[in-house]
Amino acid sequence: MSELQTHVADAGLLSPHISTDYGGLGLDHHGRAVIFEEAGYSTLGSLALNVSAPDEGTAHLLQHVATRDQNEQWLRPHAAGDLRTCFAMSEPPGAGSDPAALTTTATGAGDGWRINGRKKWITGARGAAVFVDRSQVLGEVGKGFAYAQVRLAPARLTHCMRHLGGARRAHDVATEYVRERPRRVQSGQGRRL
Ligand SMILES: Cc1cc2nc3c(=O)[nH]c(=O)nc-3n(C[C@H](O)[C@H](O)[C@H](O)COP(=O)(O)OP(=O)(O)OC[C@H]3O[C@@H](n4cnc5c(N)ncnc54)[C@H](O)[C@@H]3O)c2cc1C
Repeated sequence: MSELQTHVADAGLLSPHISTDYGGLGLDHHGRAVIFEEAGYSTLGSLALNVSAPDEGTAHLLQHVATRDQNEQWLRPHAAGDLRTCFAMSEPPGAGSDPAALTTTATGAGDGWRINGRKKWITGARGAAVFVDRSQVLGEVGKGFAYAQVRLAPARLTHCMRHLGGARRAHDVATEYVRERPRRVQSGQGRRL
């Protein structure tokens, strides 16, 4: 993947959704839609262009909520393809489609926050951080639910952009198969139903 991302970076297409301040292309939703759809056409495209879920939504949240220092620490290396992100919302058995059912708690402990709860389906997670230093808290304490919506709302749109490319790919594969099938049947490679 890092080799693919190097090609993408050389072509000037890496991280189209991230601000130019942090090394992205700074495209708005109209510009992104074109690139995200093409990325979705390939099974590796979204990762190669650094626009896959959950990274792309997390980058959106960081740009809205994180401080300059936090973005230098996380968003800039992420925009360069050096760091992946994750978003831990879903929980067994409650919070899935309904984030109001979240039961994980964050309690003040020393210089930071102790996070306690169970999570599932965390794409990109490689070991959860269970203690968060105060400097790592995004935005204001107590506004996590509102910030989750900041992230989730556009992420629904960008899922559609990528899935549109995936759907086009599926349609092309099916069309190609239908075109080829009569020839395969004639040449004895296929079975006539
Ligand atoms: C490949 C993959 C990667 C994922 N990555 C992440 C990730 O990185 N981070 C993360 O946080 N999550 C992730 N998820 C979880 C995903 O976001 C959840 O699937 C989603 O939140 C829905 O939760 P659920 O599957 O538990 O469905 P449920 O919440 O159990 O819902 C099941 C169905 O019931 C319906 N339903 C639910 N509640 C009600 C209700 N009260 N009334 C009527 N209908 C209802 C829903 O609309 C849905 O159709 C991932 C999932 C997959 C499959």
